[in-house]
Order: sequence, then structure tokens, then C-alpha cells
Amino acid sequence: MAWISNRIPAAAFGSRDELFSNQRPVHSSFRLPPSSFSFIMVITQIRNATVLLEFGGHDLLVDPMLSPPSVMPGFRLFRGQRRRNPLTELPAGADELFARATEVILTHEHPDHLDRPAVKWIKSRGLTLWASSVDAPNLQRKGLNAEVLGDGQNSFASEVIPGTHGHGLIGWLMGPVAGFYLTHPDEPSLYITGDTVLTETVKQAVGRLQPDVVIAPAGTANFGLGKDILFSEAELVELVRLAPGQVVFNHLESIDHCPMTRTKLRDMMDAAGIGERVLIPNDGEQLTFERDPHSVPVEPSASPNTKPGFQKWLTAKFAGT
Ligand SMILES: [Zn+2]
Repeated sequence: MAWISNRIPAAAFGSRDELFSNQRPVHSSFRLPPSSFSFIMVITQIRNATVLLEFGGHDLLVDPMLSPPSVMPGFRLFRGQRRRNPLTELPAGADELFARATEVILTHEHPDHLDRPAVKWIKSRGLTLWASSVDAPNLQRKGLNAEVLGDGQNSFASEVIPGTHGHGLIGWLMGPVAGFYLTHPDEPSLYITGDTVLTETVKQAVGRLQPDVVIAPAGTANFGLGKDILFSEAELVELVRLAPGQVVFNHLESIDHCPMTRTKLRDMMDAAGIGERVLIPNDGEQLTFERDPHSVPVEPSASPNTKPGFQKWLTAKFAGT
């Protein structure tokens, strides 16, 4: 699997070179036609955890947060400046990316992953929303066309990898989170971790599934109380060391309780000697990956068929989701 960047000479990659020229400025990528290229996976970072993923003929919108800046309250509770969210605008061209979405994938129901404008927009488009078996019933109650990912309705294969959004009681109160491992014969294998800390489940998933590409949240979110509720700085380094291929970091510089900056993260990864496998896209930036035709992705296993229990019920009430 190779990462085709704006920096790597496109001549190395055959007949699709003109479309993925290294001369192309980042935002011109929005004028590219929808995904119709086999063996090419395109990840366009939109904002926070919101990504358009071109995968196996689907244009999957991951974790849509559509709100304009400052319409949601701050998430940071103690220590440090609390600011209203989101902190930033959507990038130029975002509407065109949203318009291309054929389905939505949701890792969990927090408002920085699915906000009210997104719920309205998904309904207005009549899009299928893929989610875990824990979240799907609550999403259906909201009138969304939510389906459990992994039920075999897609052209791609998938496995839900449960995440843990913090440590101890805070992590439990943050509610259930799903990570997703996706494979398709034409694509690099992909693991979207969702909002999680580096649990044994996540480590074992990386070791067992050997994903070509990992997308992970790197904001080192913290309420100003207790441990981080996303991968800590040390865990981000450990995650990259565990991952066999590229790691795309997002969930950065958009929400007030995420102190990590792209610049600091880049310096950290370079200092750890693992920077060449780390991608930290700006909002609006497109990353393109090519599958190694000789590599065979690890087959996903059956997803846990967990039903929404007390944790889901309580945290949905608590978070108003
Ligand atoms: Zn989040």
C-alpha cells in the first residue's frame, strides 16, 4: 500500500498520474470526480472527526458535524479557557463534499460527531446511517434511517471494534463508542478507531487486523479533570508504533477541550522517529492511498452484537442524545 501525497512525485503511480498530480493545490481536489478509481482510497479531512471516505464505490461521510462556529457550548469543564464550539468554520468546498455522500458512518452520538444540523441534513437527504448495534436503535428513534454496520448489506466488509472514551468512571459516562475496520478487494484496509483511549481491545485490533491505514483522534481531549478522554500523547506515539502502515490523525484544533495542535503533533511524531508514517491533514485536505495489489487484507471477524444497555440509556439521557 502506498500513500500518494501532494509531495510524492505522481510519476511513480502510473496512468492516474494526471488526476493526482503533485502540482495540484490541496483545495482543487474538490473538483475531482467522485470515487470511481479502483485500488484508490481517498480520505478528505473536513473538520474535527468529519471525513469523506471514498471506499469501494461508496462516498461515506464519517461523523458529520455541520454546525457553524460557536453554536455549541464549550466542552472543557475545568482549568483552561472554555470556548464555544466548534472553534472553526467548515473548509471551503465542504458543501460539495457533503453533497457527494452516499451514506453516513457514525462512531458515536456525541455532538462533535453528529450535531443537530447533521441529523436534519441526513434526514433531508434520506441517507442511510451506518452505526453499531449499540447506537442504531437510538438513532432510529430520532427518525434516522440507521442500520447496523456489518449486517452484510454493503459491498465492503466491516467489523466493529468497541472504543473506550476515557478512563474509569469518566470513560464509562462518556458512553459507548464504535471503531470500524473496513475492507474491500480494491482498497487498502482501514481502521477508524473512533474516540477512544489506547485500550487492550484497540491494541489487539491493530495487531490482529494489521490495517494499512488507521484514522485516529489526536486532540488529547481533557475536561480539565482526570486523565485524557482520547489517546494521550504517549498513547498516540504507541499507536503509530503498533500500526503497520500509515496513521491519519484528526479531531484537532476544532473543539475547545482538545489542546493538541497539528504543529505540536508533527514535532512530537518527528521527534519519536515515526513522522514518515503519520499524516496530519488540514481541514479540506485530501489524502489518497493506493492498495498494494500483493497484500491481502485480514478478513474482519463478526462484530459484537451488543444491545444498548444501561450505559447507553443513561449516557444518552445525560448528553441529550
Ligand atoms: Zn469527539
